[in-house]
Amino acid sequence: MDKTDRSYAVTKTDEQWREELSPAEYQVLRQAGTERPFVGEYTDTKAEGVYACRACGAELFTSDTKFDSHCGWPSFYSPLAGDTVEYLEDYDMGMKRVEVRCANCGSHLGHVFEGEGYGTPTDQRYCINSISLTMRPKSDS
Ligand SMILES: [Zn+2]
Repeated sequence: MDKTDRSYAVTKTDEQWREELSPAEYQVLRQAGTERPFVGEYTDTKAEGVYACRACGAELFTSDTKFDSHCGWPSFYSPLAGDTVEYLEDYDMGMKRVEVRCANCGSHLGHVFEGEGYGTPTDQRYCINSISLTMRPKSDS
């Protein structure tokens, strides 16, 4: 599938994304970059809340499915709902990986790996860049 040949609920030009996002956010969200491990603001966050797409605000993950993977990036074993993210096969590293993107705006979030033996309910690890997310703390606690 052609990565650019898709329509999203939120569609912006490259110029608009550059204006709205910081250079670091733009590089990860719109150019599928990866932030350095162990530096992201949500890597070890335990607070309860919802993680939304930093580019468009769509709610993507919850703290309920976040777990300690010790891989250096925030890790979730499941998205908030099956259709909040979309998947694209990626061979950039010379092996098959599955890229995870926001289904609402097409921005890059990270990758999903499975069968690593983390002992989570799905045996999947959504390895997501902190900079792709905005954490919304639970308000009723
Ligand atoms: Zn989005």
